[in-house]
Amino acid sequence: MTKNIDEILQLTVEEFVIKGCTEGLKTRDYFKIKNTLLKYEEYEDNPYYKKLKRIVKDNYFLQDSFNAEYIYYVMLNSSLLPFVLANNTHDKIRLYSTDSFMFLCQFHNEETPSLGLTNHVNLMYCFGCGYSGNVFDYVKDYENISFKEALSLVAKVYNLEDPDIKVNKDLIDKYKQSIMSDKYLELIELGMKRIIDRSKKGVNKYDSSAYRAIEAYNKNLNQIHAIINNITPGISPVHYSKDKIYTKSYLDASYLE
Ligand SMILES: [Zn+2]
Repeated sequence: MTKNIDEILQLTVEEFVIKGCTEGLKTRDYFKIKNTLLKYEEYEDNPYYKKLKRIVKDNYFLQDSFNAEYIYYVMLNSSLLPFVLANNTHDKIRLYSTDSFMFLCQFHNEETPSLGLTNHVNLMYCFGCGYSGNVFDYVKDYENISFKEALSLVAKVYNLEDPDIKVNKDLIDKYKQSIMSDKYLELIELGMKRIIDRSKKGVNKYDSSAYRAIEAYNKNLNQIHAIINNITPGISPVHYSKDKIYTKSYLDASYLE
């Protein structure tokens, strides 16, 4: 049995590695890989299985439709917080940890906030319904638009170079307004105040997330200034793991379009 698996995987790996390195894989190739991975999940330790996983992670298959570097650029220079804030209809926003906020979930009905968003990580997670994602997932799911539209919308909101895909102007305005709102400034300043208070008490001494939260705060201020003055923000001081752009909806959307 194991021998068969080795043979099957080896053939597939050879094929995909050569194709991926020379011409870039197509989305249908990606689905072949994904199906193989799902089918042979119990062989996680198999070296061929590991190689396939790496192909998926390295993004060869998306070279025909999206540029991973560009997506990373938009992600670096945008923030999830003002997007979620723009659609928040309740005043029940609770600050926790360093710069994390708990919102009433916008994807399921609830009385007590359980949608957590950590500003310096730029990701969200709902402890109630399990919804999770980055800024592209969020606008795509909340506004019910395609991944490409979501990408272009976020770029347009932040005055970044964008792939020029047509998106609803009202949506751009809605999110720009949120970035310029008093409430947004109030939230990020609340987070910053908390970090300083905790530092004074020595709580943050060995906490690298406090340092990253301060970077995120600077990034937010820079963006607010840029949006108000209708210019492109300066280079973001924040860095994220590139793995964070490889979310489920990003991969699935690329197949659908
Ligand atoms: Zn939820």
